[in-house]
Amino acid sequence: MPSAKAYAAHQAKEPLKPLDLQRREPGPHDVLIDILFCGVCHSDLHQVKNEWGFGAYPMVPGHEIVGKVEAVGSAAKKFKKGDIAAIGVLVDTCRTCESCKEGLEQYCEGTIVWTYGGVEKETGKPTYGGYSTRIVADENYVLRVSPKLKLHEAAPLLCAGITTYSPLRHWGAGPDKRVAILGLGGLGHMGVKLAAAMGAEVTVLSSSPKKKDDAFRLGAKRFADMSNPKSFTDYAGYFHLIIDAVSADHDFTKYMDLLKRDGTLVLVGLPPKSPAILPFALTAKRRAIAGSQVGSIKETQEMLDFCAQHGLGSDVEVIPMQKINEAFDRMARNDVRYRFVIDMASLKA
Ligand SMILES: [Zn+2]
Ligand SMILES: [Zn+2]
Repeated sequence: MPSAKAYAAHQAKEPLKPLDLQRREPGPHDVLIDILFCGVCHSDLHQVKNEWGFGAYPMVPGHEIVGKVEAVGSAAKKFKKGDIAAIGVLVDTCRTCESCKEGLEQYCEGTIVWTYGGVEKETGKPTYGGYSTRIVADENYVLRVSPKLKLHEAAPLLCAGITTYSPLRHWGAGPDKRVAILGLGGLGHMGVKLAAAMGAEVTVLSSSPKKKDDAFRLGAKRFADMSNPKSFTDYAGYFHLIIDAVSADHDFTKYMDLLKRDGTLVLVGLPPKSPAILPFALTAKRRAIAGSQVGSIKETQEMLDFCAQHGLGSDVEVIPMQKINEAFDRMARNDVRYRFVIDMASLKA
């Protein structure tokens, strides 16, 4: 069995420490990937702290994985040794439900095998994520990465990128559409880049005026400082679409009022409290509030190809694996522009 070096939370809320693990022997449709980079997603921190209540330990986080194919199974067709490959938040689904058959496996009605914290179908053992040197996965759930992409900047596309790309596409972001990105963090900064590349007029809604220059550099046409109450009147009824990437509690009604008739606010952040919305904020202009979860394998591939075509990547700070606990602390304070990415060479030395 292929062995791997990893970093794991051995218990909830504990700092990550080294862990040696065995990956499964690659089956006919599997690929063995030598991991080069792994992005650090905010949900990794939530999971390590067991904030959603379903953490299993030891936990090896990481679901923004880019690497090089080291070996392929006898029946694998999509990849060959040496190819650049990527893995996002899921590594398998039921493959038989309506959503899976429609190619929307991120909404699988059966069991989604998450990249970490899931249960591997092949072995019945827990899945371990990308904070490790190697991983084995079914090639149907593995993405191709264009050599045009810078690999360290590509890693966060696998979660932050697709989580914003999918709702932008689904709700028709493009020319003549006024799109707001609420919250300029890991998700939001990708939302700005992607919506701008799709041709939409992008406004960043943020309570941190110091992020204004970044917003313009990333592709926004406008910046609205939401710590100033005047912004809520200036932009009332203005947007076709708001991508809400804020993970802290906020007043949804006030933001719904920024939508035009038939506009939609899409939740991609996960605030702890349920949204409370005054019904008039919806009925008066036939507005909708919706949610969206990552994207399908097909759409993730489309997004990676779109990013290669438009020269898009994430703004990253590359760290060695040994600095992960410090990175978690900084991420909790929003002290990152805009994504940490682990260079896995640091675990192989
Ligand atoms: Zn994520
Ligand atoms: Zn399914």
